[in-house]
Amino acid sequence: METEQKDTEDQGDTKTFKDLGIIEELCEACTRLGWTAPTAIQKEAIPQALNDRDVIGLAETGSGKTGAFGLPLLQALISRPQRLFGLVLTPTRELAFQIKEQFEALGKAVGVACVVIVGGMDITQQALELGKRPHIIVATPGRLVDHLEKTKGFNLKALKYLVMDEADRILNMDFEEEVDKILKVLPRDRRTMLFSATMTSKVNKLQRAHLKDPVKVEVSSKYQTVSKLQQYMLFIPCKHKHIYLAYILNEIGNKSVIIFCATKLSTLKTALMLRNLGFTAIPLYGKMSQNKRLGALHKFKAKERSILLATDVASRGLDIPCVDFVINFDVPMHSKDYIHRVGRTARAGKSGNAITFVSQYEVEVYQRIEQLLNTKLDVYPTVKEEAMILEERIVEAERCAKLEMARIEEKTGKRGKKRDHFEDDTEESLGVRNRINKDKKKRFRK
Ligand code: AMP
Repeated sequence: METEQKDTEDQGDTKTFKDLGIIEELCEACTRLGWTAPTAIQKEAIPQALNDRDVIGLAETGSGKTGAFGLPLLQALISRPQRLFGLVLTPTRELAFQIKEQFEALGKAVGVACVVIVGGMDITQQALELGKRPHIIVATPGRLVDHLEKTKGFNLKALKYLVMDEADRILNMDFEEEVDKILKVLPRDRRTMLFSATMTSKVNKLQRAHLKDPVKVEVSSKYQTVSKLQQYMLFIPCKHKHIYLAYILNEIGNKSVIIFCATKLSTLKTALMLRNLGFTAIPLYGKMSQNKRLGALHKFKAKERSILLATDVASRGLDIPCVDFVINFDVPMHSKDYIHRVGRTARAGKSGNAITFVSQYEVEVYQRIEQLLNTKLDVYPTVKEEAMILEERIVEAERCAKLEMARIEEKTGKRGKKRDHFEDDTEESLGVRNRINKDKKKRFRK
């Protein structure tokens, strides 16, 4: 396998999309999106793909990966228009919607029809959309298999282009059965592109995707995070995490922040606690229904909420512009998840900050991340006395949050509701709290 490796900071190179071989209509679409020049991964991957090569692309999140596979796919489609031409597989539903948005934005002028096929959405409606035979399908593996098995008249026998985004995850055990079923029904005579920030080193996994003499393009060395990202750590006792969180949020002012927590419960509890202090916070985790997840994301993107509390389900692939800070409230158990989490900030050339809270229980897991990054992170500057002034206030906010959680659990339990309604009630109660606490916030903020 050939490998093309380039430095991300290739400053001297002023190539345009046209120089890479992109046709006029798509160059214009890039300009409309404000993409003035190709990103490093686009410079490397696009010419290879246009040259009809299978590509394995290794690039960090926020590097413009979607454009790197989207533009060649669309160009191939435009040159040989055909229904059910391309399939993009992604591991998460949110990522699928984001990819569709980019495809539609790039392919608008040429009338590209693209559908999203993911779980948690109405399957009959999806079958109708597939019946219209779109040009491109963006799908999560499980739901696509459902349609391949059950939707009358739907097949991918004529497919010309397969993309796997976050391919390391798609090819690992989680999706093994589904991916095997999909690959079995795809024609071998097709182009394949695999993209990921982290890639499995096990070549046999890649072979499952039936790549033909692929060229590997790489724009950063192993597990590097984007260069405009300032990364810090903070070693604090576990019981003081909420205190330091509130202290930092207060210090940084009205910034857009994603806070990663280890569990759904922790996202909810911390969201309620922050709301008690007057911050606008919203939780996002895997067990929420698709509509609730999209709703939470929309509120955050629209800046109706400045703080998003998420479990790792939200750490991959989400394209949320202008996230100023990522705070790892809990150290991720898997070191590679650290890369994906902090990849939510410092996207597309912007700068960003990541702070990882490390408690006495997390030292070992944290050290594995430092080993992976091959660097020691600076300590985030804080003044302990100033943080600890907040202790009493935080203890009270935590107490209220606990009561609130118990009330919600009792309410949902009594009504025998499905799990989804849990966050309905949370949002509802958060909403009430938010109104009550509007004036509290003024008092809390310095
Ligand atoms: P991705 O890595 O595909 O998730 O892209 C991250 C963000 O970069 C998205 O908001 C894209 O719209 C944006 N983007 C992609 N390519 C370019 C480019 N050539 N110039 C500026 N922004 C870009």
